[in-house]
Amino acid sequence: MKNERRYKILPLVLRNSGEYFKKAKGWGFMEQGIAVLRALSFTAGIIATQQLFDAIANINTGEQDFWQIAFHLGVLAIIIFGQQLLSGVGQYLFSKVSYTNMGMFMKEFQRKLGRVAVKNFEDKNFLNNVNKAKECLEYESLGHFASVCLQIFTYYLVFFVSVGGYLFMLSPILPLVILIAFIPALLGQLAQVKVFANLEEENAPLRRKCEYYKKTIADRAYYKETRMLGGFKYFHSLFDKTLKDITEKTWKAESKAAILRLKLNTVSFLGLGASIIILFNAIMKGDISIGAFVSVFVALSQIFSIMDEIVSGHLSEGSETLGQVANYYRMMDMTEVGGENGDPDFSKGIAAKNISFTYPGRDKPTLDNIGFTINDGETIAIVGENGSGKSTLVRLLIGLYTPDDGTVEIGGRDTKTTHPNNIYKGISGVFQNYQRYKMTLEENVVISDTKSPLNIDKIHLSLQESEFNEDVANLDTMLSPEFDGIDLSGGQWQRLAIARGLYRTSNFIVLDEPTAAIDPIEEARLYDQFRRLTKNKCAIVVTHRLGSVRLADRIVVMDNGEIVDIGIHDELLARKGKYAEMWKAQATWYENRTT
Ligand code: ATP
Repeated sequence: MKNERRYKILPLVLRNSGEYFKKAKGWGFMEQGIAVLRALSFTAGIIATQQLFDAIANINTGEQDFWQIAFHLGVLAIIIFGQQLLSGVGQYLFSKVSYTNMGMFMKEFQRKLGRVAVKNFEDKNFLNNVNKAKECLEYESLGHFASVCLQIFTYYLVFFVSVGGYLFMLSPILPLVILIAFIPALLGQLAQVKVFANLEEENAPLRRKCEYYKKTIADRAYYKETRMLGGFKYFHSLFDKTLKDITEKTWKAESKAAILRLKLNTVSFLGLGASIIILFNAIMKGDISIGAFVSVFVALSQIFSIMDEIVSGHLSEGSETLGQVANYYRMMDMTEVGGENGDPDFSKGIAAKNISFTYPGRDKPTLDNIGFTINDGETIAIVGENGSGKSTLVRLLIGLYTPDDGTVEIGGRDTKTTHPNNIYKGISGVFQNYQRYKMTLEENVVISDTKSPLNIDKIHLSLQESEFNEDVANLDTMLSPEFDGIDLSGGQWQRLAIARGLYRTSNFIVLDEPTAAIDPIEEARLYDQFRRLTKNKCAIVVTHRLGSVRLADRIVVMDNGEIVDIGIHDELLARKGKYAEMWKAQATWYENRTT
């Protein structure tokens, strides 16, 4: 995301408008058609006002009778009624189209997120952009944007050209004076946009912090720790301070903008005054009728309110939305993961050839020039200290990340050139940060294999194999107090995660610290179970409990992003390297506690 693509305004607007019509189908054309009619109805109202007042003015001269005045009044009433009707229908269509479009934009965006490389999710800029795009979608900005851009032509332009033409006929200088009066307001708004854009830049990270502190205060996931440790007050004071910062910055920007607006509105007001003097002059000279004078008054108030709508509403929002829309398309244009189709042949095992990998935002590689193979049916244990790169290596070996250098071949298929769907098909796993889905027990298991037909017997079998006690919950028990259900203990959740991993049909299974929350006696039993379950599969077990690695055919020892040794337990102990050091440290720990 470093060299972010820049978008030009016009192509962006055209692209967004094209999608608007495509997504909204006929409704989009209808909305814009109504906008044209609304604009024309205003001009019609102004002309009808002139005719009505001219008729009233001429009543004394006997040129107009009562019925003619009633007729003009009727026409004006119909036009006003029509304006209200069109405005209601316009509003309805605006909401309908932008709401429908928002849903579709959202769907496309989520589909996109499922198709970009997983490595992006480790990139802070990418995550920031995802958040911004989500906000822009939730606030319907993307759905609104095209609508408003198109209305510049179908509503505002039609209105100004038709009213401007009418004013020009009355006095050629009038439209020019109004336009000049409008310029300071426009400039003021542009300056204001800058003030608020800077404010947004400063406030956005503060708001994110505020959101986070709010969570730490009120969220269920935090409250036990924050109450116990007295963190509530601490987070509350942080929240308070950040909120004060935001308010102070906003207040300063608001005051600056208000003073600017006041100065420039004074100039606009003078412009309005000049228009009235021109009109007064024209009426005194008999160049325009009384009806024209009144109708221009009506027109002036409408022109200034529509100009205000454009300048204060659309222009100030538009510049912000433009950035959001560009961000959305930047994300939508990201390269998707792709590759050839073809199933891995797991009898060929898994091979890592000189692989290196660096996380986004890191200077140093997390994995440096690593190579080893897992043969058909072999179970490998990966051990090493915290941060030595075990989980990262696992993510590369299952094709979740692709290496920056070197290749990973899963069942003979290169993870860089094969479509990930083919790679993932035969792989299952239990990961360190497994999810606790707020769903039923059954859903929590089958989520690993939703494409296959539901197999209730297999669900029970997986739960038995992971030694999950089904007396605690039935398959249809909701596992979340938030949704009227129950919660499980840490160990029960972990067994459930194991059951999920076992439920998925696989030829290659990864167990990344699958038993960290399970007590040692149960853990030993579970590892025996794993040995049986992984017998004919390629398998990787990542663990810190060296007592459990004996189930593996070979042990890979990692240190500081490199493989420092590979072998079986006795060999590794005899070599007196990193493994022996770790083994001794753990053995001493147990001995000290048993003596
Ligand atoms: P543990 O035993 O603690 O689970 P590990 O051996 O599995 O550790 P990894 O999680 O692979 O280690 O992490 C290896 C290194 O990569 C660590 O230094 C870690 O800080 C870094 N790292 C992990 N994830 C990211 C990330 N998303 N962005 C940047 N660096 C990361």
